Amino acid sequence: MMELKHLTEDVAYIPGAVNIGVIKTGDTVTLIDTGLDKDSGRGVRKILEAEGLKLGHIVNTHSHADHFGGNDYLVRNLGAQVYAPPIESGIIQNPLLEPVYLFHGATPIKDLRNKFVLAKPSPVHHLLEPGVTSIEGKTMQIIPLPGHSFNQMGVLVDDIMFCADTVFSERVIEKYRIPVVQDVGKHLETLEKLRETNHSWYVPSHTKPTEDIIELVDRNLETVNAILEDVQGILDEPKSSEEVQTELCISYGLDLGVVQQYYLIHTTVMAYLGYLYEEGKVKIELKNNKLSWVLV
Ligand SMILES: [Zn+2]
Repeated sequence: MMELKHLTEDVAYIPGAVNIGVIKTGDTVTLIDTGLDKDSGRGVRKILEAEGLKLGHIVNTHSHADHFGGNDYLVRNLGAQVYAPPIESGIIQNPLLEPVYLFHGATPIKDLRNKFVLAKPSPVHHLLEPGVTSIEGKTMQIIPLPGHSFNQMGVLVDDIMFCADTVFSERVIEKYRIPVVQDVGKHLETLEKLRETNHSWYVPSHTKPTEDIIELVDRNLETVNAILEDVQGILDEPKSSEEVQTELCISYGLDLGVVQQYYLIHTTVMAYLGYLYEEGKVKIELKNNKLSWVLV
């Protein structure tokens, strides 16, 4: 059963697999993300109706299916207007692009067409831009948080920061070991910037709100830096990206039993290799038509 938890009079959230922000904006409320699918959309609708709240807008932080999958139901049934960051908005409107990029740009196989990576399309009515913005007279700040996703953005309202998938909990890190990142360099910068902030509450998408973000930031920085070390450790001789992934998973005791999990991790491994390459730490060797990565 979903419920509404207030952090202040105007700012609340619905705890769940993805925490959904609920902000009072004028006579209506604005949601931050909508969960995985129509069931989460329906659950949100029930709560809003029970509380006598009218939905006006949705802000999507990024284009991963579990963050905008509830849009379709809510837009069709309650006529919400959607805000999303540029780039992310392209995927939200054309969700096939997520499995397409996971499958290296080719038409995705059926294993990559389930709701966890392929949500229903949603219109995007307004592009989010960083800086101060106002929805129905309520002032909020849009904060760029790129890294986990190309153009992820968070929302700061009444000194409460909805910080999306910038940080994962100890539990998630222990379980998945290689948290999804699309741009390692930007992710590191985002974490460092987040560390310098001091807001009254932080609401990450996949763990409970906290008044102190530093511990979580440090745990996530540590995770990224350890993976960077481990990838370089593996590249003492030339290896393909698949070999790097396999060795990394073995050393972390991971067992990728699902095709989709394999491709999510593969994209993340590519992000680590790309970062090390751009930093001049590894180079590419193209020999006998095989592309390998090796330490410089
Ligand atoms: Zn995400």
